[in-house]
Amino acid sequence: MPLIEQTVLDRVPDGLFIAGRWRAPTDGRSFDVEDPATGRILRRVADGTAADGLAALDAAAGAQAAWAATAPRLRAEILRTAYELLTARAEQFALLMTVEMGKPLAQARAEVAYAAEFLRWFSEEAPRIAGRWATSPDGATRLMTTKQPVGPTLMITPWNFPLAMGTRKIGPAVAAGCTMVVKPAEQTPLTMVALVDLLAEAGVPPGVVNMVTTTRPGEVTAPLLRDPRLRKITFTGSSSVGRHLVRQSADQLVRVSLELGGNAPYLVFADADLDRAVDGAMQAKMRNMGEACTAANRFLVHESVADEFAQRFAARMAAEVVGRGTEQGVTVGPLIDAAARQKVAALVAQATDRGATVVTGGSPVGDVGYFFQPTVLTDVPADADLMVEEIFGPVAPITTFASEDEALHRANDTAYGLAAYVFTRDLSRAIRVSERLDVGMVGINQGVVSNPAAPFGGVKQSGYGREGGPEGIEEYLAVRYVGIAP
Ligand code: NAP
Repeated sequence: MPLIEQTVLDRVPDGLFIAGRWRAPTDGRSFDVEDPATGRILRRVADGTAADGLAALDAAAGAQAAWAATAPRLRAEILRTAYELLTARAEQFALLMTVEMGKPLAQARAEVAYAAEFLRWFSEEAPRIAGRWATSPDGATRLMTTKQPVGPTLMITPWNFPLAMGTRKIGPAVAAGCTMVVKPAEQTPLTMVALVDLLAEAGVPPGVVNMVTTTRPGEVTAPLLRDPRLRKITFTGSSSVGRHLVRQSADQLVRVSLELGGNAPYLVFADADLDRAVDGAMQAKMRNMGEACTAANRFLVHESVADEFAQRFAARMAAEVVGRGTEQGVTVGPLIDAAARQKVAALVAQATDRGATVVTGGSPVGDVGYFFQPTVLTDVPADADLMVEEIFGPVAPITTFASEDEALHRANDTAYGLAAYVFTRDLSRAIRVSERLDVGMVGINQGVVSNPAAPFGGVKQSGYGREGGPEGIEEYLAVRYVGIAP
């Protein structure tokens, strides 16, 4: 392993982070973290137990009252320091993410910048938490509202954006005055371990941010959801696990925010600027190798421009460079594991069995690592599985439509409702279509919707709650009303 990678891996602390200390798990076990580009084991990481999860909640609950009472300016300054430390160490974090998750270094650097922005954004929101004052309609009472931190929060994050999914939750919770227990994904724990270490260095007091890595997520989190001290859960991951957590959280009526899967339509109208539509398609499909909940999953293109769009998009896809994300010039890294690659291959095979045409790609690459070729398919039947399910890989199925109504009907014909993309030069159409799409986020003439200053989230099976923007901090605040007789 190159010395620089070894150095970055060696700097990641050992253990679980509970009450401001790194400690070994109660049963002393640990697990391997693998490089998906090589299959090599990078590091071993502490494998937390249910008792460790409860110890983390003890610490969070114990620290809650004092943390809620801190000055907003203090919380803001801690977040600002964390932003500066993360920005200064961008290269180390980027390399760590690339080796444990696979994304090319340039994309990992972009994620560090995006992740750091949540710390900066919420450092600016902390001093602006405000209520309101009103006179009741009958004039008899004054109505005062204030906002309180909801309390100890469980955060469960996925492997695809190991850093940004952490700061998008931790940033607003710290700003609001909540304490927390963080459970990162088993396949990419190292980035979160390094982030938690950085937060402590930035001045987050003991007990405010606690973290448990584990291979037994259900065993660790279920007891927390039964515990009345836990007041909120925020989850990013699959819709099936999200539904499971909602059921588990029902008894204690824990507040829930869910960022779940997507099946984003990418609409290209006849009047679109095709250069921008192809550039946008590359971003919307290939960011993170297609392993993004906002990834364009279905390309719906007007029949008059579909051939030209497909040819130009396929040429760009064929020019992508597949390889280990640390290598110069690589633009497409491996998928996260063998099962993910097998799923993508099966979706492509099923579509081609049903009549889809492979314009470029279509196959796994090599025996080492979990690589898959950038792929464009045309003539894809509407009932092919990859039009219904999240592909989570570098595969773009293209179908055509004849009218705006047909495009909208097909775009909305999915259980999901996270993101959609619309390419058109007609302003009226852009407004009309964005108003009729059943999604939480729409990109008009752009292939990326994520922005720290915007509310990220979905509708339908894509979940509820918003992360980022002024809305993001509200998820961690409870309104208190005080009635005053003057
Ligand atoms: P996943 O299986 O749902 O895992 C997500 C997280 O939940 C991981 O930390 C996982 O731990 C944990 N988990 C799994 N089972 C659990 C249980 N029974 N109790 C408590 N925690 C549990 O999803 P994934 O396959 O890793 O991630 C990809 C999915 O996330 C996709 O569907 C994608 O669309 C979605 N996603 C959504 C957003 C968004 O913002 N909307 C962003 C990114 C990803 P382990 O790692 O130990 O299994």
